[in-house]
Amino acid sequence: MKNYALIGYPLSHSFSPILHGLVYKSWELPNIYLSWEVLPEELELAIPMLKRNLAGFNVTAPHKKAIIRLLDDLDFSAQLYGAVNTVKSEEGKLIGFNTDGAGFLKGLSEVDYELTNKHILLLGAGGASQTIALELAHQGCPVTIANRELSEAYALKLLLEKRFPEASVEIAQLNDIPKGSYSCIINATPVGMGSLANESPISSDYFRGVELAYDLIYNPAETLFLKEAGKMGCLTVNGLTMLIAQGLKAIEIWFEREIDTELEENIYSSIAKELYGND
Ligand code: NAP
Repeated sequence: MKNYALIGYPLSHSFSPILHGLVYKSWELPNIYLSWEVLPEELELAIPMLKRNLAGFNVTAPHKKAIIRLLDDLDFSAQLYGAVNTVKSEEGKLIGFNTDGAGFLKGLSEVDYELTNKHILLLGAGGASQTIALELAHQGCPVTIANRELSEAYALKLLLEKRFPEASVEIAQLNDIPKGSYSCIINATPVGMGSLANESPISSDYFRGVELAYDLIYNPAETLFLKEAGKMGCLTVNGLTMLIAQGLKAIEIWFEREIDTELEENIYSSIAKELYGND
């Protein structure tokens, strides 16, 4: 029997083993899910061993892009987002997928939010922003990307325009974003968590007229960004649904089996309880 794993470096506390454990237990599967630290310089050497020993593995920072050239094939999702977070080992071949985009979309569908023709303000230009920006461009949404480091935002704009020549992409400095008619604001920066827990990446006046504020942060459950958006009447979504949905989608890919709504809800409650206690 082959098992599953998460590879990355460093691997700080991750909810993936808990999430996978809950599904395997519910499906009465004997499989286990391991956390495996792989240094960037070890990635290429690790591939044959991963292929031999695992039926599939999740990939996290810093390997999401670097692993692409080491795989045998890429699913449409990995081609679209230019990054891999899930690998399936099938008939001696490693196939790369990306379930982050599906996770992001699940957060929107939970609140019945349609992206069509919406102007989005995306805060951050890192890995998560890349996936989201490519999905937004794929769906034809005009997007303004605001980042501290402008060169990163321009690099993302170039990538979007290369893939989607019709894409409408504006760039802004995070502390000088033009007031615009944004329908939705997405926080894909770490501002609001850890040592930045009492901060928001934008001032609350940006939420005027905004329909939805989506924070990728899931701990705390309600960041200052979401609190202020809620006060201004916006619908709010945090990152927990995205986190869980991308993990569950990986399991569905590996086992070719759908996770039913009841199990999904149980997993959501267990992880929310683990994170936030009983409140
Ligand atoms: P990343 O690749 O390291 O990118 C971080 C981004 O945040 C960069 O654009 C960076 O801007 C910006 N940033 C960092 N510190 C900042 C600060 N103090 N003030 C303003 N901007 C700052 O990280 P990532 O993987 O994209 O993750 C971004 C956030 O999304 C994190 O909070 C992460 O936990 C969350 N996330 C959640 C999920 C989920 O499933 N819910 C999935 C992925 C990520 P510069 O370029 O200027 O440094």
